Amino acid sequence: MLDEKIEPFYDEVVRRNPGEVEFHQAVREVVDSLGPVLAKHPRFTERKIIERLCEPERQIIFRVPWIDDAGEVHINRGFRVEVNSALGPYKGGLRFHPSVSLGIVKFLGFEQVFKNALTGMPLGGGKGGSDFDPKGRSDDEIMRFCQSFMTELYRHLGEYTDVPAGDIGVGSREIGYLFGQYKRITNRYESGVLTGKGLEWGGALVRTEATGYGTAMFTREMLAARGELLDGKTCVVSGSGNVAIYAIEKLEQFGATVVACSDSDGVVYDPKGLDVDLLRQIKEVERGRLDRYAQRRDYATHSRGANIWETPCDIALPCATQNELTGRDAATLIRNGVSAVAEGANMPTTPEGVRAFLDAGVAFGPGKAANAGGVATSALEMQQNASRDRWTFEHTEERLDEIMTDIHSLCHRTAEEFGSPGNYVVGANIAGFQRVAHAMVAMGLV
Ligand code: NDP
Repeated sequence: MLDEKIEPFYDEVVRRNPGEVEFHQAVREVVDSLGPVLAKHPRFTERKIIERLCEPERQIIFRVPWIDDAGEVHINRGFRVEVNSALGPYKGGLRFHPSVSLGIVKFLGFEQVFKNALTGMPLGGGKGGSDFDPKGRSDDEIMRFCQSFMTELYRHLGEYTDVPAGDIGVGSREIGYLFGQYKRITNRYESGVLTGKGLEWGGALVRTEATGYGTAMFTREMLAARGELLDGKTCVVSGSGNVAIYAIEKLEQFGATVVACSDSDGVVYDPKGLDVDLLRQIKEVERGRLDRYAQRRDYATHSRGANIWETPCDIALPCATQNELTGRDAATLIRNGVSAVAEGANMPTTPEGVRAFLDAGVAFGPGKAANAGGVATSALEMQQNASRDRWTFEHTEERLDEIMTDIHSLCHRTAEEFGSPGNYVVGANIAGFQRVAHAMVAMGLV
């Protein structure tokens, strides 16, 4: 049940954004936590901060025409939703996946605002992407698509305006093609306009690893708050993309054993602990499917169509996509003894799943806190670009660790302050909201 003061805002969001169910879900999940903070700061209500946050500052939708290798013309749709710039330039990734729609981009952009606020860095929030499906496309096709996408998007970007990065389907290869086209059109070598760049041309060490590493660090902190260690724990990580691979690597460095990961075809189970080098070789170098892993490693199996959440574990990290862990999956994990869940992906757990974890006393780290390491390291990349500097891997990883530890403490403290000790959902929503809301009040009605 929503707070009665908040229900009308939510109903209005649903009315104004018909059919955008993921956006409705993301808004509901945040506003559901905000009753106590509105009671403490009546000014936020007077200034209609929630209503303003729910209406993006700008929404851009554009046509992306491109030609495949066989000479056939394709038309995709491009999006950039610039949600809020109270704390800094719009910042958030680009997603290339056939499921991308305005509602998906809007939900991701909305979440991004609070996540970026939690990092304490000068970052606003936005998100973008296209319904283009990169699977099975040649390198040249990817390049032509990226060039066409940037030919329209470039006019909305700038290091002080809007700074995209990667997300599902967009890694350093795509960022390279996007940056090349931006540079060509604008005649400016503006490193700070995109993050996730290659190391040879303005990228930062640790950016590739940052989201997954950060999620593992957040998990370590949640366990530490309960007097537990990751060492010796059995973990399961869904997905096998950028976030999943580096979450697995860091969990294993912390002494845990990660026994399963997945892709949209199925699940790999490796009781001896996943071999990250092999995973990286298959996914990043060969750009192959996950079933290859089981073909090359003794004891490992690949089960097509299996549900990863049925694998018994102490710790579960959903790192693939939204709504991939349902109430039923949560019940299975709880029955199998899970003690902590941290979201590497954005909104991977359904509201029923979140409720089940909280009710069962599972330590639950919501994505906007647990996966904030990626965007935080993007801010470190921008910092290095602005000062023409280059930090070592060790220094950057240390900064990332400090940031994740600080985000954990902030969420933990805020949850306690607002009467929900141990509830990181409440802590993250209120702490992120407060930072943005204070800045919005200070800047007046803009
Ligand atoms: P990648 O494209 O590198 O990997 C995505 C992984 O998730 C792949 O294994 C993919 O499998 C799987 N997946 C994607 N869509 C689906 C689906 N509909 N059903 C089942 N599996 C799916 O993306 P990232 O690792 O970068 O992103 C993963 C999640 O983390 C997303 O929610 C993203 O928003 C979030 N995130 C990413 C950040 C980053 O820095 N990259 C930062 C913060 C959050 P398959 O190959 O079969 O499609």
